[in-house]
Parts: sequence; structure tokens; C-alpha cells
Amino acid sequence: MSLPVSGAVSYCCSKVLCLLAYSKHGPKPPCPELRYHDDRYWCGILEDAPKAAKIQYMESLAIGAGCSSSMCNTVRDLQIAKMKKKETTDGK
Ligand code: SF4
Repeated sequence: MSLPVSGAVSYCCSKVLCLLAYSKHGPKPPCPELRYHDDRYWCGILEDAPKAAKIQYMESLAIGAGCSSSMCNTVRDLQIAKMKKKETTDGK
């Protein structure tokens, strides 16, 4: 079951970073992009995004899609495994 979040973020972002946050900050939660204002948490990457990119980010980050979208996400896990493999072959 998922709970609607109406564009805000919180629980899953404090436990698991989304792919965009992972590529920017690494794997360690909580996501440093979490911001608290107006009585709730918001995604800093989304807030700072150019207006034209906001819809794309909301869809790709599943913001507003429901709680725990980044958790138990097989597609996300496979993509992170690819990123780790690339880092290893690139010598990072
Ligand atoms: S959706 Fe935003 S706040 Fe949540 S993990 Fe991704 S970058 Fe961080």
C-alpha cells in the first residue's frame, strides 16, 4: 500500500536515496536534498530544478507517486548495480 504525498517527500528519502540523489551524493541516507519548510519535507533537487525540468523530475523520481517508491524497487537496484560496475571499471 502506498500513501499519496502530493509532491512532498519524506520517509523513503530518509531511508533510501533515489537514483538522482545516489548519483550526486552516494548511497548514505538520509538524502541531503531533503528540505523542511511549510510543515513538510520537500525535494531540494526538484525545488532547484528549472521550471521546464520539474515535471520530468517529478515523473522520474516518482515524487507524488506514493510513499516508498525508492524502496524495494528492483529497477532502481539494477541501475545502481550498473552504476557501481561503471565506477569500478572507470577506476573510481
Ligand atoms: S526524491 Fe529528492 S529528496 Fe527524495 S531521495 Fe530523491 S533527491 Fe532526495
